[in-house]
Amino acid sequence: MRFASCRVGERRFAAVVEGGEVRPLAGIAELGADTDADLLADPPVEDGTAHALEDVEMLPAVPRPGKIICLGLNYHAHVEETRRDLPTYPVLFTKFAESLVGPYAPIVKPPESSEVDYEAELAVVIGRAARRVAPEHALEFVAGYAVANDVTVRDYQYKTHQWLQGKSWSDSTPLGPFLVTPDEVGDPGKLDITLDLNGERMQSSSTGLLIFDVPTIVSTLSEFVTLEPGDVILTGTPGGVGYRRDPQVFLQPGDRVRVEISGVGAIENEVVAE
Ligand code: MG
Repeated sequence: MRFASCRVGERRFAAVVEGGEVRPLAGIAELGADTDADLLADPPVEDGTAHALEDVEMLPAVPRPGKIICLGLNYHAHVEETRRDLPTYPVLFTKFAESLVGPYAPIVKPPESSEVDYEAELAVVIGRAARRVAPEHALEFVAGYAVANDVTVRDYQYKTHQWLQGKSWSDSTPLGPFLVTPDEVGDPGKLDITLDLNGERMQSSSTGLLIFDVPTIVSTLSEFVTLEPGDVILTGTPGGVGYRRDPQVFLQPGDRVRVEISGVGAIENEVVAE
């Protein structure tokens, strides 16, 4: 099944997406902590209300995750282009919920930066509290998957060896369009992932090339923190980011960026100046 967080007028609601329609879940304002895997398996669909997909504003699939944990350097081709050593433990950083935008909303380029870059990524949404889970059981704790663009402000990322300020600008990170449940996605290690900038293919890879795969990521994170329903994990980007190209490519107002993952969906966003 496919779920989304939506707005129509003043009303925000979580919804199940069926064909071209969204049907609100009764009493649930958004996907997140209140929509664990058990609820999504038997969603409380509101009687009698449906909206055409094109009539609703799509919000970030999970608008306010309790945690957003991200991996850096998790595809071989990206590690090679950064000329770093292969990690033996996932490189981890966080984003704030304020950095999220909807799947078709503008990416806001801040005036302080001239080096805003794109990163196509598979997002994992947690569906059950997970602590010290073994890799072989880790996928049981996943509610679903979404598409993300880990938009990065490079000139701020590299001000220090901690990346927070370059990764957590407000209104930078599209997430969506849907939370797609695992039964529909299948093996998260067999998904094609691409990014097009103004129609030109800039990134193309497969989640089969992740250095740390989804079960390993969930298991590793759950060793040191309890992952909760609605938490979001960004699994890292393939090679081809703008900063490592020659010449370098950075996002400019008016650019359109599209990220697609097979079986999960596509997000497309215009870059606008703040
Ligand atoms: Mg990234």
